[in-house]
Amino acid sequence: MNRFSYARPTTVAEALSEIRGEAVRFLAGGTNLVDLMREEVERPVKLVDINRLPLREIEETEGGGLKIGALVPNSDLAWDTRIESRYPLLSAALLAGASPQLRNAATTGGNLLQRTRCYYFYDVATACNKRDPGSGCQAIGGLTRLHAILGASEHCIATHPSDMCVALQALDARVHVEGPEGARAIAFRDFHRLPGDRPQDDTTLRPGELVTAVELPAERFDTHYTYLKLRDRQSYAFALVSVAAALRMEDGVVAEVRLALGGVAHKPWRNREAEALLVGKAPSAAAYAGVADALLAEARGQGANDFKIPLARRAILRALDQAANANPQSQIDKRIA
Ligand code: SF4
Repeated sequence: MNRFSYARPTTVAEALSEIRGEAVRFLAGGTNLVDLMREEVERPVKLVDINRLPLREIEETEGGGLKIGALVPNSDLAWDTRIESRYPLLSAALLAGASPQLRNAATTGGNLLQRTRCYYFYDVATACNKRDPGSGCQAIGGLTRLHAILGASEHCIATHPSDMCVALQALDARVHVEGPEGARAIAFRDFHRLPGDRPQDDTTLRPGELVTAVELPAERFDTHYTYLKLRDRQSYAFALVSVAAALRMEDGVVAEVRLALGGVAHKPWRNREAEALLVGKAPSAAAYAGVADALLAEARGQGANDFKIPLARRAILRALDQAANANPQSQIDKRIA
């Protein structure tokens, strides 16, 4: 690990003033950044520890939603009674991720910013455009079990690893940030990027910007929802495919659909045209299949991950069925209902 200096500000303004130069990083829970530093994927010259900033509250918003401070730990968020009762999809996604110890340390803002778990990204002996722009992508033609089937580019086929972000994508959250040019809010769908020809940029954050909060809108989807995560073992594993599904039902007919996929792309994936195919229909396997086919029409495997396409199709069907029947996937007993 390289030598670095360390600052521990107590206000957002002080934290922002500490960020000058590309090799300065904000440190919160450190559950990903410290690993990256150990592997020398990240070599910051300075760490700005933001754990003393006043960003640990969950507050009601005027619009009837909740604003979650960036330093709220994942475990506190998952078990907060307001989240459990009003946004159980988010609670379920959080509990599907990592381990209890990691969820105690990991923060809301950090979860948004965690890096891909592509094996090559963590191995500095290999070519990786995300770690070292212009060096190539050793995953293409290599080990691709965890890699993307949607939205990949010739420069990067990595996936985003978060569970929490899949639920936030389905819930149409907003990300609040502050930076040298002031404060702004970013729609969640615009926060993470596809790789294109700049895979080194995971998000649309500008240089020096700090995530300060995540805002949930008033719409809750607290009855017809599920978070279904399929992985190589039942805990402490990243998703091969995950589905966050939320429906609003009226008189036995689907009135609104939210469907986000994890483990399949460089960002939590949504396709609003595919979701619209289910609106106005009674729940049925045929109707779900139409949505899945549209959502996966552009899916392409890399060989070792070709299995993800039929797996995602079946997961979408199962998740929509669980949501329609108000029978959400248990995160305690992970056997699929
Ligand atoms: Fe790097 Fe992306 Fe290729 Fe993985 S898939 S080696 S992260 S460029």
